[in-house]
Amino acid sequence: MTPPTALTIAGSDSGGGAGIQADLRTFFAHGVHGLVALTAVTVQNSLGVQGFTEIPADVVTAQIKAVASDMGVNAAKTGMLATAEIIRAVAKTLDEVEVGPLVVDPVAASMTGHALLREDALEAIRTELFPRATLITPNLDEVGLLTGISVSDPASQRAAAEALLEFGSRWVLVKGGHMTGSTCVDLLTDGREYVSLSGPRFETDNTHGGGDTMASAITSSLAKGASVPDAVAAGKKFIERCVAESYPLGAGVGPVSPFW
Ligand code: PLP
Repeated sequence: MTPPTALTIAGSDSGGGAGIQADLRTFFAHGVHGLVALTAVTVQNSLGVQGFTEIPADVVTAQIKAVASDMGVNAAKTGMLATAEIIRAVAKTLDEVEVGPLVVDPVAASMTGHALLREDALEAIRTELFPRATLITPNLDEVGLLTGISVSDPASQRAAAEALLEFGSRWVLVKGGHMTGSTCVDLLTDGREYVSLSGPRFETDNTHGGGDTMASAITSSLAKGASVPDAVAAGKKFIERCVAESYPLGAGVGPVSPFW
């Protein structure tokens, strides 16, 4: 039987922990057929991102159109988009083809602190992609860059979520993974419903690819027809298991695990 399809519009990680590599295996783990529009090729290992080359914007557009026109897309996500030109091309293309619910993970930098976006591109994600998004999934660093709010407690997390909703997405998930404490609380809201998702914090340094994996797990559930709150709850359970099973690889930050 033909499985549902999900499209990732994102970059490649030569270390195999994040990017399209994480997305494709997460789709696979959910029984979803993965489609790819590659935006950039990064050169990286466990120690960090050494550099990247972007794919020409018209080639990104052509990849999206090729799969959407023939195979159909049940849900889509964006990850590393590299340049404002690619972001504008993706936004325009998403108006022309049907991709189902859209998850925008506003990837700005790797956890090792290396930029994955050229300057001015985060602003393009905010203005061009957020209004088209079903859900945006910023981590606390990205929340700070986008809103200027430094989240440190539930009140500031809620204020940040409300500021982010103003940018036009239907739902906002403010991930609390970088807050301190023994639990990890994410806040999901559409401005009417507020869902607080609490889970354990795992003691590990090996969290490379965690953001990508959670966003693509949510996208997988959306491709199968789940509501946003159900998809996010399932995505959180999935990423918790991936973090719990994460492993060292190389001298730096190891990946969250797809093996369980
Ligand atoms: N490389 C690529 C291609 C990515 O898409 C991402 C995150 O989205 C990263 C690296 C950084 O991953 P992390 O912050 O988990 O190290």
